[in-house]
Amino acid sequence: MNGQRRFGRVLIANRGEIALRIQRACRALGLETVAVHSEADAESRHVRAADIALCIGPPAASRSYLDPDALLLAARATGASAIHPGYGFLSENADFADAVEAAGLTFIGPTGASIRLMGDKITAKRAMRAAGVPCVPGSDGPLPPALDEIHALAKQVGYPVIVKASGGGGGRGMRVVWTEGDLAEAVTLTAKEAQQAFGNPTLYLERFMQKPRHVEIQVLCDTHGTALWLGARDCSLQRRHQKVIEEAPAPGIPPALIAEIGESCAEACRRIGYRGAGTFEFLYEDGIFAFIEMNTRVQVEHPITEATTGIDIVCAQLRIAQGEPLDIRQEDILTHGHAIECRINAEDPLSFMPSPGLVSRWDLPGGAGIRIDTHVTAGYTVPPYYDSLIGKIIAHGATREQAIARLRVALAEMRVEGVSTNLPLHRDILADPHFQAGGVDIHYLERWLAERVAP
Ligand code: ADP
Repeated sequence: MNGQRRFGRVLIANRGEIALRIQRACRALGLETVAVHSEADAESRHVRAADIALCIGPPAASRSYLDPDALLLAARATGASAIHPGYGFLSENADFADAVEAAGLTFIGPTGASIRLMGDKITAKRAMRAAGVPCVPGSDGPLPPALDEIHALAKQVGYPVIVKASGGGGGRGMRVVWTEGDLAEAVTLTAKEAQQAFGNPTLYLERFMQKPRHVEIQVLCDTHGTALWLGARDCSLQRRHQKVIEEAPAPGIPPALIAEIGESCAEACRRIGYRGAGTFEFLYEDGIFAFIEMNTRVQVEHPITEATTGIDIVCAQLRIAQGEPLDIRQEDILTHGHAIECRINAEDPLSFMPSPGLVSRWDLPGGAGIRIDTHVTAGYTVPPYYDSLIGKIIAHGATREQAIARLRVALAEMRVEGVSTNLPLHRDILADPHFQAGGVDIHYLERWLAERVAP
């Protein structure tokens, strides 16, 4: 559908910093906003600032932010014409995207069919391979039923291999196999887990890359056939497959190589008729990119790309959903300087246990090149029911060194009392010489943490 129309009111089906971020983008475009919230979030900043606010259920996400019927009812009751799902919750739920459109509203994101195609890792890899995007070597499809065929396949791919669930997510449903003798048991166990966790026992197999970096490409596609890539982000600093610090661009990777991969991602989007914002995730090792999965939504780390490209990704999502053509060309998209984001979590900096409660002091840093995305203020109570992300500090500089310097000053300035945060962890990582050098692999932070707590 290529017709253009303006949304009157946009319902934001999310909470926390991203709900506020989306609300600001709506405001900048002159659109009214509906905040839906659980009983636990009634006092939240974006709820207070919304044109219309509606409580949709009790604190449990399953009965509020994850309840499609409650969200659709709220949209109808408030006269919203579109729903922005943010990240997490229902943002990658194809059935919800279809239900929103079936109700005559616009889902601000790709079609249900695109989400379904890219949400299944086997079909996603097939689609990417067909579009010329390099993938991690492995089985081309689901594992065959016969064990001797699986053994032959693993041998061909080469050990170590990783057995993965096609419906997997959140870092679950995968198992590394180092030797042939362990393969059969790994397949049985992972299939059982995948059936329990995702309702789908289908497995596939990949070569296990031992020192890769996580490098991802942001794309934006309109409904008029334009697909653009917005540069790369390095999100290798992870704990339990959760990103902790992200940066753009990915240090030390030749821009020509990024451009080649970026163009193949854009081509893949054109082929599948993708619309909206999305991210292609790759493992990068020894100069080679290998696709692992696509996220069909806005990501937590989108501000670092906004800082380096000057493009407002959330505004672009809204405008694309209104049927507007993208008014930028690929050759106009340049990377300016360097940006780094620290995710601030309400958690113990050593044990990583969540630390909900009343925030009694909340002094934010500022200055040149510093952006803070947060829904927290002094006096806010971090509820125990949701993700522990309470804010993001984004530092932008002309160079990576300047971005690091600005971020270190910002982290030193920030004061939080009442809840514990991972600010000390960020301060320590920024002082680490390997981080400062750039280009650490996805296992670096876990190794660093293990050494840190050792006596
Ligand atoms: P999820 O959807 O659960 O996030 P991904 O396929 O994105 O699953 O993989 C999550 C993480 O698991 C990756 O960021 C990487 O750390 C690790 N991983 C996945 N596939 C491989 C692989 N083939 N080799 C090495 N590590 C991998």
